[in-house]
Amino acid sequence: MNRIEHWMDGRATDNGDTRVSPVYNPATGQQTGEVVLGSLASVEAVVASARRAAGGWGSSSLSARTKVLFAYREIVNRRIDEVARVISDEHGKVVSDARGEVQRGLEVVEYACGIPTLLKGEYSDQVSTGVDLFSYRQPLGVVVGITPFNFPAMVPMWMFPIAIATGNSFILKPSERDPSAALLMAEMWREAGLPEGVFSVLQGDVEVVNGLLDHPGVDAVSFVGSTPIAKAIHARATASGKRVQALGGAKNHSIILPDADIDFAAQHLVAAAFGSAGERCMAISASIMVGDVAETLLEKVSVMAREVRVGPGSDPTSEMGPVVTKTAQERIEGLISLGASQGATVVVDGRGIKVSGHENGFFVGPTVLDGVSTEMDVYRQEIFGPVLSNIRVSTVDEAIALINANPYGNGTAIFTSSGDAARRFHREVKVGMIGINVPIPVPMAYYSFGGWKDSLFGDYHIHGPEGVRFYTRGKAVTQRWPNAKVGDAASFHFPTAK
Ligand code: NAD
Repeated sequence: MNRIEHWMDGRATDNGDTRVSPVYNPATGQQTGEVVLGSLASVEAVVASARRAAGGWGSSSLSARTKVLFAYREIVNRRIDEVARVISDEHGKVVSDARGEVQRGLEVVEYACGIPTLLKGEYSDQVSTGVDLFSYRQPLGVVVGITPFNFPAMVPMWMFPIAIATGNSFILKPSERDPSAALLMAEMWREAGLPEGVFSVLQGDVEVVNGLLDHPGVDAVSFVGSTPIAKAIHARATASGKRVQALGGAKNHSIILPDADIDFAAQHLVAAAFGSAGERCMAISASIMVGDVAETLLEKVSVMAREVRVGPGSDPTSEMGPVVTKTAQERIEGLISLGASQGATVVVDGRGIKVSGHENGFFVGPTVLDGVSTEMDVYRQEIFGPVLSNIRVSTVDEAIALINANPYGNGTAIFTSSGDAARRFHREVKVGMIGINVPIPVPMAYYSFGGWKDSLFGDYHIHGPEGVRFYTRGKAVTQRWPNAKVGDAASFHFPTAK
């Protein structure tokens, strides 16, 4: 049985922790390992290790830091297939998709390689006679990342390249469902020459999360996961005085107007709804078909949904793998049944699918529901599975109002050939990331990623320029040197320029 441990002071260790949680291969349904669950004693040990490392690393030169980052970039790039296989085995997604997530994470490493430019401060000469003013940013110290199961490499990589490049120590608390990728990423930091203690992995559940949130030695928390946990984490960590960004769940809508290219829209809807078995925070889970577009589009979507090749992630011919756990499988199938009982039409039914040779895998097939209304549970809940709910409306105004009434605001997209409709859509919709004929509009690493409303608690989006600001604090220095000729006399008046 594979035992998955913490990473501290540059090596794997269980720290004497004895609680464990099973890890499965979702394609076979078999347990393949167990992950150690950290204790409060482990929280103490890992925070102490990170604090010891933070001072030296935060004072290291920008060129020393970029040297490590460039080396890390090369190592991840070289080992990308290995990381992808590990992700696929524990998460279930197809290997090519897992490779894609590592690639998107790598782009954040590449962005962080430019940290000398990103950290440039500002300088004003002669703000008063003989007085100059400059500003620069310093690291926070020890920062924590708590991450979800669905992107075990990419989401941590949204955080740690920038946190480390800006001079912080980083503690990763990965999902207990697919914890192995975190250890590979830690090993690669060691190979890149990162000093011990700057990157740690603390495996565990609510006990270590709460321990980290309350710990005075932790300066900031980045969280990505479901909305109820994001909200609770934001409240608890801000109450203990920390800077927090907590990204939550999603219900992403796609509007399809009658003037859209229908074949193009159908292909992209199917890929965006069923890729990674719908377990993406940017997956399209609700299609809003405007006017008579449903008459042709729904049939095309349904034909394509039935053709999706469902199988184990390790099979290169599979397009969609299983969902992550048996519990997730049962919950998703239960919601489809609830949708049917509440009046939705199950046009394509993925319940009870059997994959030959993998009869015990946690598979749910692509599912298309029509006639969904906003009162139904399939609409109100984040299903986080391969289910596309179709809602029919008459006008684009109705579609935008529907999206704006939804509590989530992560991503959304419009399919249209009208520039006017697209412009109105992106200006009026209350959502953080918007696609125009792009169904999964995940911003590139040099922009920031984040939703609105219940999809993000806190003031900063993740990675890109907002990531640099999140992991640093600004200082403004006003300086005068004593041999200046004018204006040196001290005064009790509030300082004004002379
Ligand atoms: P989750 O909220 O169950 O878990 C996320 C993390 O929180 C894990 O590390 C988990 O161990 C920890 N956790 C779980 N319960 C906790 C509790 N009670 N107290 C403290 N910590 C707890 O999320 P998940 O199921 O792993 O991931 C799927 C969710 O993440 C979906 O809702 C998805 O939309 C969301 N997500 C959002 C984004 C985004 O960018 N907004 C990106 C990826 C995933």
